Amino acid sequence: MSATRHSKLLIVGSGPAGYTAGLYGARAMLDPVLVQGIQPGGQLTITTEVENWPGDLEVQGPDLMVRMEAHCRKFGTEIIADHIAALDLSQRPFRATGESGATYLGDTLVLATGAQARWLGLPSEETYKGFGVSACATCDGFFFRGQEVAVIGGGNTAVEEALFLTNFAGKVTLVHRRDALRAEKILQNRLLRNPKVEVLWNHVLDEVLGEADPKGVTGIRVRHVATDAVRDIAVTGVFVAIGHAPASELVADLLKMQPGGYVWVEPGTTRTSVPGVFAAGDIVDPHYRQAVTSAGMGCMAALDAERFLAEKDA
Ligand code: FAD
Ligand code: NAP
Repeated sequence: MSATRHSKLLIVGSGPAGYTAGLYGARAMLDPVLVQGIQPGGQLTITTEVENWPGDLEVQGPDLMVRMEAHCRKFGTEIIADHIAALDLSQRPFRATGESGATYLGDTLVLATGAQARWLGLPSEETYKGFGVSACATCDGFFFRGQEVAVIGGGNTAVEEALFLTNFAGKVTLVHRRDALRAEKILQNRLLRNPKVEVLWNHVLDEVLGEADPKGVTGIRVRHVATDAVRDIAVTGVFVAIGHAPASELVADLLKMQPGGYVWVEPGTTRTSVPGVFAAGDIVDPHYRQAVTSAGMGCMAALDAERFLAEKDA
């Protein structure tokens, strides 16, 4: 496909920020085009229960994102399954090139490409990725029925992954580099009460241990951060849950950035350093990184884009 599609509002990303921008943009009659990327629905599609989306006491992440997509479509946002490979922000309309070969032009652009799982960067982690090392318990937990697994990290994701894994695994060891968890208190309490969970405080993962034939994980080598004492623990699965990095590589050289690879926006707005380009959700947010804050910023981005176009026409 090499078609060119021109819209008043082009949205890149289909997480809570992108879909909310689509909803508000469509209701503002901007006829948005939204390019979903390789993870339609974004990060919430790899989790299970979401308990802090206002108005839903409990909702499955993937179901919530299906509803957001339907809501967005209902008001007329055109949703396209493609992944943007390159952006040209040097002139308006802005130009995005999809991996399909299609070109998307936008009088305004909302970037809502979110974040991706971070890895530790160990060679052994790389060796066993997909062979016992994973960053998604929801995707891979089922393979570890009755086995012993480890989770690395101490934030909400690590604790949720560990709790989810107790549905399958015989034992879950959570390895955390400090003596206190970063996760919400309610999740911490659930974790610490769970008889299948052991928390290994003040330890880091030095190496994933495994064998070549058949390729698979047999254990982890962990190190105490204060004493440097090393010990091996037998596990068959390792779930790395040490946070997420903003998916900003498309614009790293095109927009003003914040430390850590987050896109800079003018405080209190979604305006980036290029007029007409707006950014929303986890790609701009090193602090909150929630579905509800991302959705809120998606709303702001569509309203900011509408105002930008109105001022141009005035
Ligand atoms: P994302 O959800 O990250 O979506 C990014 C989108 O951009 C994706 O659709 C992707 O396909 C697209 N994209 C990326 N690059 C491109 C490209 N080049 N071209 C086109 N599209 C592209 N938050 C909560 O509030 N409650 C929870 O219970 C909760 N649980 C979580 C559980 C897990 C396991 C994880 C990982 C996160 C959880 N979060 C939770 C955080 C929440 O998911 C994020 O804050 C939120 O999804 C961010 O939304 P976003 O729209 O900014 O981006
Ligand atoms: P996070 O909050 O950044 O936590 C990352 C954890 O990994 C921290 O405990 C950190 O340790 C540890 N870590 C980071 N680098 C490490 C390394 N190199 N080696 C060992 N440990 C390392 O990330 P997250 O848990 O993925 O959460 C991301 C965002 O999504 C957060 O805002 C979170 O609230 C949100 N989220 C929300 C929910 C929910 O509301 N239920 C669920 C999941 C995620 P330190 O603590 O020492 O820094």
